[in-house]
Amino acid sequence: MSHGRRFARLLGFLTILVLAWGVATSGQQSDDSEFARLVKAWTTRPEFISPLVDHLPKTAGVPSPKDVLGHHVGEPGTLTYYNDILKYYNALASASPRLKVLSIGKSNEGRDLVVVFVGSEESIKNLDTYRGYLAQLADPRKITEAQAKEVIAKAKPIYHLSGGLHSGEVGPSEMLMELAYRIATEESPLVKQIRDSVIVSITPVADPDGRDRNVDWYYKYGVNETEGQPTGAGVPYWGKYVFHDDNRDINYSQVEMRALLDWYLQWHPPIMHDLHQAQTLLYTFSGQAPQNPNLDPILYGELPMMANFEMSQMAKYGMPGVWTHGYVDMWSPGYLAFMSSNHNGMIRMYEIQGFSGANTRKLRLGNGRQSTASTGSGEAGSGRADQPDAAAITAGRSNQSQREWFRPWPATGEFDWSLRNNTNYGETGVLTALQYTSQFSKVILENFYVKSRNSVETGRKEAVAGYVIPGGQRDMTRVAVVVNLLRMQGIEVGRAVSEVRLKDGTFPAGSFVVKRDQPYARLAKMLLEKQVFPDPNLRTYDDASWTMGLMSHADVREISDKALLGVPVEPVTVLTVAGALSGVGSTFAVAHYGSNNMITLRYRLKDLNVQAAEKEFKEGNTTFPAGSFVVTGDSARVRSAVESLGLTAVALSGAPQVPMHDLDLPRLAVYSTWGSTQDVGWVRYAFDKFEVPFDLIYKDRVRQGTLRSSYDVIIVPNQAGTAKRLVFDIDSRGSPIAYKKSDRFRNLGMYGESDDIAGGMGLDGVAEIDKFVKSGGVLVTLGVASFFPAEFGVAPNVDATRTSAQFYAPGTIVDAEILQPSHPIFYGYDTKTISVRYANGPLLSLQSGQNPFDAPGAAQPATPPGVLMRFSGGDDHVLSGLMRGANEIRNRPAIVDRPSGRGRVILFAGNPCYRWQNFGEFNLLFNTVLNFNDFKNETRTSQDSSF
Ligand SMILES: [Zn+2]
Repeated sequence: MSHGRRFARLLGFLTILVLAWGVATSGQQSDDSEFARLVKAWTTRPEFISPLVDHLPKTAGVPSPKDVLGHHVGEPGTLTYYNDILKYYNALASASPRLKVLSIGKSNEGRDLVVVFVGSEESIKNLDTYRGYLAQLADPRKITEAQAKEVIAKAKPIYHLSGGLHSGEVGPSEMLMELAYRIATEESPLVKQIRDSVIVSITPVADPDGRDRNVDWYYKYGVNETEGQPTGAGVPYWGKYVFHDDNRDINYSQVEMRALLDWYLQWHPPIMHDLHQAQTLLYTFSGQAPQNPNLDPILYGELPMMANFEMSQMAKYGMPGVWTHGYVDMWSPGYLAFMSSNHNGMIRMYEIQGFSGANTRKLRLGNGRQSTASTGSGEAGSGRADQPDAAAITAGRSNQSQREWFRPWPATGEFDWSLRNNTNYGETGVLTALQYTSQFSKVILENFYVKSRNSVETGRKEAVAGYVIPGGQRDMTRVAVVVNLLRMQGIEVGRAVSEVRLKDGTFPAGSFVVKRDQPYARLAKMLLEKQVFPDPNLRTYDDASWTMGLMSHADVREISDKALLGVPVEPVTVLTVAGALSGVGSTFAVAHYGSNNMITLRYRLKDLNVQAAEKEFKEGNTTFPAGSFVVTGDSARVRSAVESLGLTAVALSGAPQVPMHDLDLPRLAVYSTWGSTQDVGWVRYAFDKFEVPFDLIYKDRVRQGTLRSSYDVIIVPNQAGTAKRLVFDIDSRGSPIAYKKSDRFRNLGMYGESDDIAGGMGLDGVAEIDKFVKSGGVLVTLGVASFFPAEFGVAPNVDATRTSAQFYAPGTIVDAEILQPSHPIFYGYDTKTISVRYANGPLLSLQSGQNPFDAPGAAQPATPPGVLMRFSGGDDHVLSGLMRGANEIRNRPAIVDRPSGRGRVILFAGNPCYRWQNFGEFNLLFNTVLNFNDFKNETRTSQDSSF
């Protein structure tokens, strides 16, 4: 027994004395003896609990979790559905004036999204007043220093806690119910101090749709699982579209993430704390390198202060295995709780040991890495397999039982781990964080104010004064995407009232101006600048770059001239691009300037005759580039679609004298494995947003055959990591793993269903895909899925290899060179070189002596027909972020068009539909869909250059 443990006992004893004193003075509070007994039994070792959570008060008239749910939090084998979680918070709010439940929207599947506030009666009664104080501190331009001091004296920090962002990480959403009850009812000095000086706000479950699906899966497959007989496969879906990527949704595409951002911008909690569940036994994030240098140095002091406080407090309570360094870094601003740091607050994060279900399971730590017991339950779980190995990224991950300066008391050996242990660790940690916050509430508020003030002031002093997004760009819909994403994040964007003359250039009236002397200027700079990775020897947990202008192919200029700060502007609320249709007639030309809305237009006019011009032509003063639509039909409908989509159209006097082809709409399928649905989800999301109908098909449909009779185009999004896994997917486990809806399990069988998700398409499926192509179908593969047609021979004479072990490109933005500009895939692109996100897809090459890419010293190697675009490669062509070994991709094909039989295979080495992010590349995919039967088996000539 350790010294710490003895101390914890002593502390526990003192706590009991204090509580006893509390009871004596208040005369009301007694503890729930059943709770204490059961929780002790469910806790697998005495050191896995603290004196903060080994008891629970009973309060007349205020329901504890058990009073509503029928069980105490952390009961083995028991998980709570979202509706019951809401039922509990609502019951608690009805009974206690210390709680309030606020609706903030609906999930994709229609569940209520809420934020629960807990605090003193006074705090809850005056919530709007406290919200007002924080809003004042968030915008220091509107108050003086003296006023700020007065506001800080009256204000209270809101500390936001969020559970259930990742549906397999089940514990925190259970724990938060008990925490809310405890904060609302317990009369201990610590909890009273927290209640009085902090307002706690809670997202009970950040992805409630995924929560219910995962709980269904647990009750169907996990609850009876015994050690040695793991079910293995996880539930195929969490939320409607994505798994872990809801924590990398930098543009807040998913409604649940957007609702939280909208709430954040109204309430300004200085701290947002995400509770995850993947590491041993509790990891508290302290903001390690690589760090984003745009964020305030104050933040980088605050993060380790809180983490170290938690670690030392928990050591004092006798709890081993708490550590503060070595997992996830402060580089990408795309993690959900980063919304706080992005707006001058503080992101916090825990990883608490746990499993995707509620069974007690064996953990084997030993001297080395954690063994099988926790696989499949963590951040590296489903959906991330095609990303670089996150687990290998940071030191300390591989051996969490080893002592380090940041882990002075590691957990070691072999022991059982229960859901209640997870509750004990999480709740003790959070109470400790709240203790710190209550103790230093004024410092936290002052820091929040000063960070906001510094943001405005550094914008006046530093080299970058802001950004101009010039008006009059060829396609303004992409400008609108950028402006509106900035606005969504609370960043102020102005429209210049007259011409803007700066040392950096002259821009027309109507250009968009982002000035850096504003509270959220740090975020504006982070999103718009080119990312310069601080140290090429470091790795990062997610993307190394995200520069919005490069991602969306919109012109965004960084400005150093301080005169920008004085440019008169009108504030933009939302930018709507009004399309224009001029002239009268029944045939119209719609210019293809590269707007992603072109495909939406085609589908909105699906019953009309629409052709694509294969060459540029003019009508009046308007030049229509190749790919422009020629539409015949009802002018009112065309006008309405063109105007609402922000496009440019002119009525034609006669058919243009250029070759044209019909834009037939393909019967479109998107193929998904069962084991890796997330990146498929991003493609589904983009198609849904742009109104492109498709069938989502799985192995059963492929194996059934006759694909050609149902489909013209099959897209295989980035997934599965390797060709072999794409084909064989989840291993068969003897008995079928069904994903089907039933009365008991209503959340399963959504987005697809199968009697057995294991087995993959198999070789029979490959043969059917090959038949589909040879009989005239178009197969399109994205990113790592492009290994499949190369390695299984579906794309003849195409080889796919991998980059070397030294190569490292975590989401780098690079140049790609268009080699066949007249190819329909490039309709709407008007430059020879475009920026693309490098996606760790295959290094493609063509066989039969057609592959001179590797020839040393070949400056301008000839490129064989079939290669439509290639990566420029080399350090000079890295536009943003980090790429180690950039020469390895030099002149490697980025898009290959390979005929086979009567059909063809289009292989993208990159991913043209990456999350909700690389909008500039979406058209490569959309053009492929719209022109699927118009690709010609041409050989490229040296004259083929229309730029
Ligand atoms: Zn997580």
